[in-house]
Amino acid sequence: MTTAIRPKRLALLGSTGSIGTQVLDLVRLFPDRFQVCGLAAGRNTDLLQTQVEEFRPPWVSLATREDATAFKAGKRQATAPQVFWGPEGLERIAGLPEADLVVSALVGAVGLRPTLTAIRSGKTIALANKEPLVMAGELLLEEARRRNVAILPVDSEHSAVFQALQGQQKKDLKRIILTASGGPFRTWSADQIAAITGPEALNHPNWKMGPKITIDSATLMNKGLEVIEARWLFGVSLEQITVVVHPQSIVHSLVEFQDGSLLAQLGPPDMRLPIAYALAYPDRLPLPHSALDLTGLSGLTFFEPDLEKFPCLALAWQAARAGGSLPIVLNAANEVAVAAFLRGELPFGGIPRIIRRIMEKHAIIHPRGLEEILAVDEKIRSLTETLIRAEGR
Ligand code: MG
Repeated sequence: MTTAIRPKRLALLGSTGSIGTQVLDLVRLFPDRFQVCGLAAGRNTDLLQTQVEEFRPPWVSLATREDATAFKAGKRQATAPQVFWGPEGLERIAGLPEADLVVSALVGAVGLRPTLTAIRSGKTIALANKEPLVMAGELLLEEARRRNVAILPVDSEHSAVFQALQGQQKKDLKRIILTASGGPFRTWSADQIAAITGPEALNHPNWKMGPKITIDSATLMNKGLEVIEARWLFGVSLEQITVVVHPQSIVHSLVEFQDGSLLAQLGPPDMRLPIAYALAYPDRLPLPHSALDLTGLSGLTFFEPDLEKFPCLALAWQAARAGGSLPIVLNAANEVAVAAFLRGELPFGGIPRIIRRIMEKHAIIHPRGLEEILAVDEKIRSLTETLIRAEGR
């Protein structure tokens, strides 16, 4: 006897970005498994329009009221969705009663409120958006525990750890080893790195990603944010997390057990693999073009990250160890500094310099609850913008 499985209904936050479009690639490949009930985009109304025509979600959201108006005016499809906008629109999509799974492919702190809304609405979450965990990991995991909500990692390293932990006992876990590609500047000198101004930082050797995470990968801040992400997702201490540079991006991360055994997850550097694992969990989907040719590999190497050449990783460790508001400060200063670098207003070496100055000036507090966390975030953003403007004069 065969059992018909009802398709999983997805609410997708960040549908027009790099992860969002790959989520929709998978929906397209597996129409019997997935359906889209809500899409939240930023300002790319044209791509959202195309996505709506193809996937017919009853609900969508855009960044601003103007974008929502432009979207409605450009309506081409016969069945028009209900259109929301702004931060409230994101939360409406995150809390859609008909969604079985909320996929958060947002970038940055903007994802914090909708992630919390999804948890409070009892939704399983496939989380690609790491910044909310950096800012409010304790709060989010506590809420998720209380409501018995699963947070499934989409980040490739965390998906690797999650996969390696299946069928294991938490008490046997000794250490999590996160791999880092080392980014495009791994073999450059510190002086060469400081002088980088633009496009070379946007060319990652192994992964195709959006601009913010590509710069975070080049500074290694991404790995620092991932250390904090892993700490909360897997409930381990910072002493149980190690980062190793692995330039081939084939071993996506490892878990070490008490007996010294290491379990790793390997695969080609293709985000559709960890995305598919989170979407279909606990099933595995027959993905096309995702096999790894072991005999074609020239070698797998691992070494320690250079914290002097990549001070952002050292700053992230410092913020993680200090705790309290410092990870929020790290994240907010980084988001503002990376945006300034992308606008050509800050050299590459200015990113860690600015973040360090902001962190040094900050007196750590212990925010209680979402509003206090967001207040720190907002204050630090404005301080960082002022500091960058003052430096630019
Ligand atoms: Mg990652």
